[in-house]
Amino acid sequence: MHNSPEPGAIKKLYGGLEGGGTKFVCAVGSGPDEIIEEIRFPTTSPDETLGRAIAFFQKYSLSAIGLAPFGPLDLNPASATYGSITATPKPGWSGTNLVSAFRHAFDFPLAFDLDVNAAAFGEYSWVPGNRGLDSLVYFTIGTGIGAGSIINGKVIHGLTHPEAGHMRLPHDLSKDPFPGFCPFHGDCFEGMASGPALARRWGYPAETLPDEHPAWDLEAAYIAYALVNVILMLSPQRIVLGGGVMEHLPLFPSIREKVRGLLNGYIASPVFAGTLEEFILPPALGKRSGILGAIALAKTLSEKG
Ligand code: ZN
Repeated sequence: MHNSPEPGAIKKLYGGLEGGGTKFVCAVGSGPDEIIEEIRFPTTSPDETLGRAIAFFQKYSLSAIGLAPFGPLDLNPASATYGSITATPKPGWSGTNLVSAFRHAFDFPLAFDLDVNAAAFGEYSWVPGNRGLDSLVYFTIGTGIGAGSIINGKVIHGLTHPEAGHMRLPHDLSKDPFPGFCPFHGDCFEGMASGPALARRWGYPAETLPDEHPAWDLEAAYIAYALVNVILMLSPQRIVLGGGVMEHLPLFPSIREKVRGLLNGYIASPVFAGTLEEFILPPALGKRSGILGAIALAKTLSEKG
């Protein structure tokens, strides 16, 4: 994957689609430094939005496309509804089948995975510092919370796909009376620690809360609980934290310190003898992990033949 092409070799082109609830990003290229064209447009009706994406990719001679929309998704290839967005509150989108729509337009391989799984795969595939790893977990902590996990070099799916953003965490109501706002679980991780949860608890948008505000210590505590669960469950070699809330960079040292405290010396790895700066860190691809991950998914599928 990281070898230079032979002189004169024609590089294969791949498409990547990152489909969010408010905007879609479509790109064509062969890697992070070789993006030929990228467009973004608002998410409207499924027909209009997917039509725009398909028309964009039809301009190019591609080897594969990676489709990475918001979820929840049907990722089971044996299912009759494989390729679709399942029950989403986004009006009109429940049951939308991206793979079917693209299959009518293209006869080459189509990769299909959750947006946050693509982001995990993007960080894993393209970031030089992650070469040599075989496991990595990527969390997005923003409007919602989700995680993608790579184990043995592959994205974990399972029964449907993991929903680590909804894991249950200790919640001391005497210190934090905010009940959480997840419509399914109330005070799950997303219900307590997403950007909208911060805004509801404190009455201000997260980005306006000053560094010294107690919101940040509480936020770091919830994130540290979640990370400890993942560390104990999957033993990843690296955890990448992206999303709007994590743009508040002082969270990082605070989370590392709390993770160390919660584990209390239990994990026997030289990693935990260090500062954890190389273990819990921001995305090297910034906000581009998802779209570049979609391209990496396409490339990997194409190379599998
Ligand atoms: Zn929840």
